[in-house]
Amino acid sequence: MSILRRDPVSLGWVIFPTDRPFRKEHAHEDDERDSPEQCPFCPGHEAETLPEISAYRPPGSGKDSAGWRVRTVPNKYALLRIEGKFDRRGEGLYDMMNAVGAHEVLIETPDHDARFHEYPVTTIEEIMRMARDRVKDLTLDTRFRYIQVFRNHRRRAGETMTHPTSQIIALPVVPRWVREEINQARDHYLQKERCIFCDIINQDTRGPRMICENEAFVALAPYASRFPYECWIYPKDHAHLFQSINDSGLTALADIMKTVFSALHAVLDDPAYNMIIHQAPAQPEKFYHDVRARVNDFYHWHIEVLPRVVRVSGFEYGTGFYVNPVLPETAAADYRGKIQILDESTGRLKAID
Ligand SMILES: [Zn+2]
Ligand SMILES: [Zn+2]
Ligand SMILES: [Zn+2]
Repeated sequence: MSILRRDPVSLGWVIFPTDRPFRKEHAHEDDERDSPEQCPFCPGHEAETLPEISAYRPPGSGKDSAGWRVRTVPNKYALLRIEGKFDRRGEGLYDMMNAVGAHEVLIETPDHDARFHEYPVTTIEEIMRMARDRVKDLTLDTRFRYIQVFRNHRRRAGETMTHPTSQIIALPVVPRWVREEINQARDHYLQKERCIFCDIINQDTRGPRMICENEAFVALAPYASRFPYECWIYPKDHAHLFQSINDSGLTALADIMKTVFSALHAVLDDPAYNMIIHQAPAQPEKFYHDVRARVNDFYHWHIEVLPRVVRVSGFEYGTGFYVNPVLPETAAADYRGKIQILDESTGRLKAID
């Protein structure tokens, strides 16, 4: 029999059909890889991208030349453009505006064929440091109300280039999913004077839906996971902004990401997935503060890892219901089965195959 669960933050419903077998071979459909020779993101091809915005490179190596470890450039095929005015206007009863924003590509490594779960922890740390610093910088542009960091892995998750990248998009509006999370979190706070995400962390850490934890972060399979093997990574201490993470936080974040992505690979054999960072909007004071509830108190930044291993059908699009053939308790147990503590002196978790 199927069961229905409701997510306490989005209030979205998820169907878990317990009689439908989960087939993980879906994960590898639609894949094709482009060659390093034609790749604008490979070292030696720096002139094929727009001029770089930021890069980590050894002293002495020049801008837009090889030698970098992590490099951010404007997206040549940007969804939004940084120049211009919004020119908000009405068209009869409709509202419109120009697509002003920013769209950057964070090239994660010079290695065309590298996989996220195989990166050294220090590489993941540099990628997240770059993401933090780009988000901080984009927040200074007061035209932008929300900065979205995301990563697509494999074609069926929306990847367009083989070379490993993340992307950063600055938006002139707060997008719908973030608005819904904020609204629910605010309602919860107004009723209980507690952050709903902190409540989830307190209830589920060390429970059947926990995947792993370290000193500063915990990875959980959400109670109403929309996707098989969905995983959310939360800072244990309440914080509303990813961009406020400090250097020791970055080290701990890289550590848990290495564990989660290694275990994800071990469970599903390098599946397609999306990774997104959700944080409070860039200018919350305009929209989300009032005397009773400040976004700083009720919103909690997090990373969502969303494996794309089942097809989304018209039913999902039509209703907002999701259908998930894997219960999160099963998913978390599968993840945990691939994780063991190897080094007791540092307490660091490592994943095993
Ligand atoms: Zn490449
Ligand atoms: Zn919280
Ligand atoms: Zn979220």
